[in-house]
Amino acid sequence: MLNLKKLMSTFVKNSLNIFFFNKKYMKIRISGESMHPNFLEGETYILKKTKSINFFNRFEPIIYFCKIHNKLHLKRLLAFSNEKLEIRKGKLYIDNRFINYHKFGSVTFNILVCDNSFFTFSDNFMTRGKNCDSFSVGSLNNDVIVGRILD
Ligand SMILES: [Zn+2]
Repeated sequence: MLNLKKLMSTFVKNSLNIFFFNKKYMKIRISGESMHPNFLEGETYILKKTKSINFFNRFEPIIYFCKIHNKLHLKRLLAFSNEKLEIRKGKLYIDNRFINYHKFGSVTFNILVCDNSFFTFSDNFMTRGKNCDSFSVGSLNNDVIVGRILD
């Protein structure tokens, strides 16, 4: 049994409280402001469990297990393994192709996503550096994927 209170950290709270488990689904509650305004503190969602990155599209929410905090995080999927991610003054390029998505302020950043890994960001870009998305911790191995929001 996870002791969630004990695992709270000094990071901006961006974890998910787990209400119950079964084989296919899990009920989760949003904690923290990193996904504001699309996911708000206290809201609950049903998560459909999956371990495969193949079920996800770019920009879709993804729930994964954080090995740093020993709990689940909800972030948004930005890039897949071996993709070249570049943000030039806020403009997004994946494998040198411009993607019309303007949520990154005036940031300049680039990374090649590792093998069998994915890259996430937080909807609330103001929390960049204070939450546990890939801008802080880098690419995440596909083996930490827990599931997706049931729609
Ligand atoms: Zn974390």
